[in-house]
Amino acid sequence: MPITGGCRCGTIRYDIALDALPLVYACHCRDCQTWSGSAFALHAMLPEAILSLDPGAHRFRLDDVEQMPSEHLGCARCMTRIANRNSAVPGMIILRAGTLDRSNEVVPAIHIWTSSAQPWVTLPDKSPAFEKTPTPAEFQVALAK
Ligand SMILES: [Zn+2]
Ligand SMILES: [Zn+2]
Repeated sequence: MPITGGCRCGTIRYDIALDALPLVYACHCRDCQTWSGSAFALHAMLPEAILSLDPGAHRFRLDDVEQMPSEHLGCARCMTRIANRNSAVPGMIILRAGTLDRSNEVVPAIHIWTSSAQPWVTLPDKSPAFEKTPTPAEFQVALAK
């Protein structure tokens, strides 16, 4: 059974060709705080080929705003941002893990941008954490733990 998810209003749905929930990381950067309207965002980085997203998803770019220009995909009706891709990780897509139907089961395995984490957020002792963005190599090592 694939892993499924979608936007708040249910217009844009997706499935992921995986048997288990993907590995999820939390980003505590200020941009993620602003964009999510919350304290951090939950992301899963997936090979693009395994994500099957409704072709009607709204696509937009913020190239004049973003340091790392990305294409964002989401729902034009309820404004849920579901995923984005950027040239730093070719062939990969970054999913907003809170849109998973089983998001209640998601536990972030890694925390990044902890230098801007909200002061009341307590990170689990055993989760790898990075003050800013780890290098791809550091990220892979942390994922393997
Ligand atoms: Zn929607
Ligand atoms: Zn972030």
